[in-house]
This record gives sequence, C-alpha cells and structure tokens, in this order.
Amino acid sequence: MKYLQNLHTHSTYCDGRDTLEEMVQQAIALNFDSIGFSGHSFMHWAPTRSMSLAGTEQYKKEIGVLKDKYKDQITIYRGLELDIYSEVELTGYDYVIGGAHYFHINGEYVGFDRSRDEVGLVIRKHFGGDGIKYAKAYYGLLARLADFSKVDIVGHFDLITKWAEKENFFDQDDPRYRSIVMETLETLAKKIHLFEINTGAVSRGYRTTPYMTTYILKALKELGAGITISSDCHDRRYLTQSFDDALEMLRTCGYKEVYHLTPKGFAPMALTD
Ligand SMILES: [Zn+2]
Ligand SMILES: [Zn+2]
Repeated sequence: MKYLQNLHTHSTYCDGRDTLEEMVQQAIALNFDSIGFSGHSFMHWAPTRSMSLAGTEQYKKEIGVLKDKYKDQITIYRGLELDIYSEVELTGYDYVIGGAHYFHINGEYVGFDRSRDEVGLVIRKHFGGDGIKYAKAYYGLLARLADFSKVDIVGHFDLITKWAEKENFFDQDDPRYRSIVMETLETLAKKIHLFEINTGAVSRGYRTTPYMTTYILKALKELGAGITISSDCHDRRYLTQSFDDALEMLRTCGYKEVYHLTPKGFAPMALTD
C-alpha cells in the first residue's frame, strides 16, 4: 500500500519554502488523494516561524479557494499546527495538530526545536545541564495538550529526541525518562485519539528514523491510540519522505491499521503489503 496523504505541511505563510498552491500541485503529481495544511499558529514571539494574525485569515481564505479550484483532482483540508503557548481560535479548521516547541521561562520564550548547539545551550542555561530535567519539563508541557478544546493529533511526540543519534542529551533508557514518557502518553491518549509518525527530521538530515521511537509506538498500541503518518513538510520535495519506512515501523510494532482523514472524519485504513 501507499500512504497518499500528508496532513502536516507548512507553506510560505509560516516557515515553509513553497506556496500552498505549489504544495497542492506536488501532491497531485504524487497521486495523493488529499493534502492538509498545518501552518504554525500565531506566536507573537516567533514572527518568522509562525503565521501572523492577518496571515492566518489569508491562509484560511486561500485554502478555501484552492479546495474549490482543485476539487476534481484532490481533497484539500484546512488544518493548524497549534503550539501550546499560542492563544488562538481553534474554529474554522478541519483538524488541529498539537505540539510544544517553546518553554516559557522567566517571561522569555525559549525554543528547543533548534540546532544541536542551541539545544545544548538551553539545557545548560535553564536546566543546569541535566537532560532528564529538560525532558521532564518538555513532557510536563506537552501533557497540557489534553486541556485544549480541539486537538486531533499529537504532533512529534518525542521531539526532544531530535539529536539523540548525534548527541546524548539524556539517556532514553533511563527509568526516569521512561516513566515521564509513559505518564504523558497515558494523559494524552485519554483525550486525543491520534499520534503521528513524523519523518520531518529525516528529510532535514537530523535523524535516520522518524519520531516516534518504537517502544512509544508499541505503548500507544496498548493504549488503543491511532497513528497517522506525516513528513512535517517544509519543502515539497519531501512530501512523502520515508513514508514506506513509517508503514513498516507500524507493521513491526503490531499495528493492523493506519489513520487518515476523510471527508467524513478520521478513519482507519488496513495496513496491507
Ligand atoms: Zn512542530
Ligand atoms: Zn510542523
């Protein structure tokens, strides 16, 4: 099977390289049945990375225009990637992906979806060089997604393992790490049914395997959660980055189905060969 949808995509409205229409055309060229946009929600402290308030309205409108223009070729969904600290309306979207990218420490927004050096600096400056403290702060923050009125998919759940293949900021086998991961999974899975396998860090060369780590996928299966696949696409050349690997990960972890968005809502699709 092929997974012919990507719901986690960015455009020139935030930090993506391509316009909405260029992304749509690429999706059509790849025979996708649908594509969803998930522009970064407005963050006043991150003007170059997020959509502006006016830009958000324009984004919503333009997606409406494209939905209509390409309706005979592809289904287009209007989504949002919500950052926990964004105070934005969640209405008018077909779906919302939730995620954490910043801490709020002493009145300052501190980004951690950053370069290896910047992440190292964040851990030294704000967590006394203790990677486990950093991980606890991250998962404590991420768990707050359960309190939002509309979050359909938990985005890049273990984002803080971004550099794990290159630098060990914390030990993923440390029981303290495992226990905060499990606690967060349980909290989130009670409220949010879907989590994504996110291949974005592979397309950018930071990792060779997608988020999430295999034992997390297995734990989610036990919790009854569903999985979607995305490439957190900021560049249309990587719209299907490692999708086949992601499908194989699911099979290896015992999944029988993968979720996708349909005009009637999220639905499972059998994982055939
Ligand atoms: Zn993100
Ligand atoms: Zn994203």
